[in-house]
Amino acid sequence: MDWIKMNYSRFLNVTSLGRKPSPIRVLTEIVLNSPKTLISMAGGMPNPDFFPIQDISLTLKDGSKLNIDTSLVTRAMQYSSSSGFPELINWVKDLQERVHKPPTLGITDENKKLDIIITNGSQDGICKTLEACVSAGDNVLIEVPTYAGTLAILNPLQPKILEIESDKDGIIPGSLLRYLSKWKPEDSKKPNCSIPRILYCVPNGGNPTGSQLTWERKKEIYKLCQDYDILIMEDDPYFYLQFSKPYVPSFLSMDEDGRVMRFDSFSKIISSGMRIGCLSGPRALVNKIIQHQQVSAVHSSGLSQVVLFSVLQEMGHDGFLQHCDKVADFYKRQRDACLAMANKHLSGLAEWFEPSGGMFLWLKFPQIKDTFKLISEKARAKEVLFVPGNAFMVDSSLPCQYLRSSFSLVSSEDMDKAFERLSALIKEELNQ
Ligand code: PMP
Repeated sequence: MDWIKMNYSRFLNVTSLGRKPSPIRVLTEIVLNSPKTLISMAGGMPNPDFFPIQDISLTLKDGSKLNIDTSLVTRAMQYSSSSGFPELINWVKDLQERVHKPPTLGITDENKKLDIIITNGSQDGICKTLEACVSAGDNVLIEVPTYAGTLAILNPLQPKILEIESDKDGIIPGSLLRYLSKWKPEDSKKPNCSIPRILYCVPNGGNPTGSQLTWERKKEIYKLCQDYDILIMEDDPYFYLQFSKPYVPSFLSMDEDGRVMRFDSFSKIISSGMRIGCLSGPRALVNKIIQHQQVSAVHSSGLSQVVLFSVLQEMGHDGFLQHCDKVADFYKRQRDACLAMANKHLSGLAEWFEPSGGMFLWLKFPQIKDTFKLISEKARAKEVLFVPGNAFMVDSSLPCQYLRSSFSLVSSEDMDKAFERLSALIKEELNQ
């Protein structure tokens, strides 16, 4: 299992290769990990005696009270480790082990061994990873349509985006192969070859499509990525919002090479405002993200981390997974209500497939040339709002027949009204 030698430096750009550990942060780590008998006059930690917060207690929605351990509160108020609170990292690591059984967990290869960093939401991890790996002119493989937040990171980095087609089952492997067959697998060994080095995808509850990448396709895609030595960015914030069980196994779960950077998020399950996500990947690459964190945010908010950790510890892994099931059940009911209303008002006007997870329905209007003007100007006048599909396209200036509808917040009655208004708008446009 440990036999493939990965050359991680080929995934990193000049900026990232040039990063070195911050000397101040290294000292902080030494202080944090030393016995109390160490006298340190080295660090720049402020004296916490003047920090006013002493205790934190929480009331959960089930009415239960949670007092956060005083020693955790004290640590939350002070600078801490750039990779995150060790207790939170361990909790997440145990969850990853239970849910994904990553082959790289606990292996001896120091470069590919699985490591975790707590990020400011998964967005932060995705941003730092793309900024570490992509240079202007690079060929980057992206599932389309795709998450607008990722396109917004990528565009200023000026790569050449190779658009991999997808359908309700996620990325189409044949589309990936069509691109890759322009090269030979051995080209990946040539230092200045234009062969793509990164594949980005959202495998569950696709944003915007609600698609779900199947296990069969994942295996084909992973094999292609092995052949062409490609790093897989698995952006999976809707993993726990899959509408049927068992969960489709992740890329991380099959990652015997250490070529997967997996982005998890607590935003959809516990809180989006806490801004906590986590990145799991090979140590050689995660270390580069930690070095970036050392000089950017320094670390994710200590307060958010201890509040999250205390809630997760109280739930335990079983409780967390049960909570996820409840949330997924809710979104599944919302999805069903949304489909019922789409059937009621949009039949004959729009096409769609049933989302397998997440919170989005992706609607195509074959008789409408471009939804942008319709939505951005006329829909607002009718007091209804959707996202025009071009927001999720690599070239957003091209006409687009799609729009994204979210079913996370709206009641069935409001979905009824919203689609009725949308239907009237489309009919007006078509002069029906
Ligand atoms: N990836 C995708 C596909 C998303 O939909 C989102 C949330 N909109 C994110 C990443 C970022 O989530 P987080 O709140 O964890 O930063």
